[in-house]
Amino acid sequence: MTTEETAPRPPINWLNLTFLLGTLLIALVGTPWYLVKHGLGWPEAVTFLVLWLFVGVSVTAGYHRLFAHKTYQAAWPVRLFFLVFGAGALENSVLNWSADHRVHHAHVDEERDPYNITKGFWWAHMGWIFFKPEPIPKTVVRDLAEDPLVRWQEKYYVWIGLGVALGIPLVVGLLTGNVLGCLLIGGVLRVVVSHHGTFFINSLCHMVGRRPYSTEHSARDSAIMAVLAFGEGYHNYHHSFPFDYRNGVKVWQFDPAKWTIWTLSRVGLARDLRRAPDAAVLKAKIEVQFERAKERLQKSVHDFREHQEQRLHEAYASLQTALHELISLQRRRPKAQPAGEEEMPHETRLGLTYRALEEAMREWKRTLRQTKRLDAAAA
Ligand SMILES: [Zn+2]
Ligand SMILES: [Zn+2]
Repeated sequence: MTTEETAPRPPINWLNLTFLLGTLLIALVGTPWYLVKHGLGWPEAVTFLVLWLFVGVSVTAGYHRLFAHKTYQAAWPVRLFFLVFGAGALENSVLNWSADHRVHHAHVDEERDPYNITKGFWWAHMGWIFFKPEPIPKTVVRDLAEDPLVRWQEKYYVWIGLGVALGIPLVVGLLTGNVLGCLLIGGVLRVVVSHHGTFFINSLCHMVGRRPYSTEHSARDSAIMAVLAFGEGYHNYHHSFPFDYRNGVKVWQFDPAKWTIWTLSRVGLARDLRRAPDAAVLKAKIEVQFERAKERLQKSVHDFREHQEQRLHEAYASLQTALHELISLQRRRPKAQPAGEEEMPHETRLGLTYRALEEAMREWKRTLRQTKRLDAAAA
């Protein structure tokens, strides 16, 4: 056995390494120094906030959900906005960013995953950017390259990105007489904060948090990360239903990218918003709960274990029956009732199925609670 069998480490990308570590160092040392010496003025604070918001929404609602996953369609002024301010994140052109991201989803936690979390926190966070891996074939993003605006961004990415990230702060600085503050706070610090907002999705959101929708992949839901990254923290849901324009699927979950897309659709600037059907989301959640409850019971030494296992399987079976009935009824369009036939109307069947589902859900929750209680009593 020789070490030649392991994949050779790709060459170092010195430009990326110098840029990422250099900006991080300037932000970490320069910001406290500047704040102590000069205090925080409104020009640099406003530049930071506006750019952070514009770039953040362009990466999440634009780069990620519009381009990489095509969860909806957007009018050209919206695409242009996302391409300009998305470039300002200095996280690559949309074509390269989406190619990496599509491979991440297709091969999550595997060797081919560019930000594979099984290689550790730092690799997934930013280590992977310090190397030059084998380029991903452009066929992965052929559909995106059909858009002339995307091709324009690809061609001038560096200039657009630098123009937004440093050019805008420079102009604001010249107009307000505070070039250093605007470049440091509105420029470098903003770039670093935007960078790590995205990087934490690839690192922490594959390590810390809950997995309510699937345990097949490492992605996790974290409300804290959702607040820091414009709603992208609900990453377990996202990896389970990547075609959904929402990441925070519940109404109350903090997801500004979802709200932006929804608002754009209300004013006619976005359309064809894709959502996973509620029944499919519920089904995924129940599968995870079922597997966890089974595991819990298998470890249990309680006298009622067998009885509880049977109850769990029965509750699961009735829930599955109601869910399948609902999914098939929702798929089927109501047919016109032929004269003389006494078949139950579609709406009535749907209503009855909803009621059966509610009852099955109540029994399911009771069973889960009891399983937990038995487990705690046996412990
Ligand atoms: Zn991920
Ligand atoms: Zn994604």
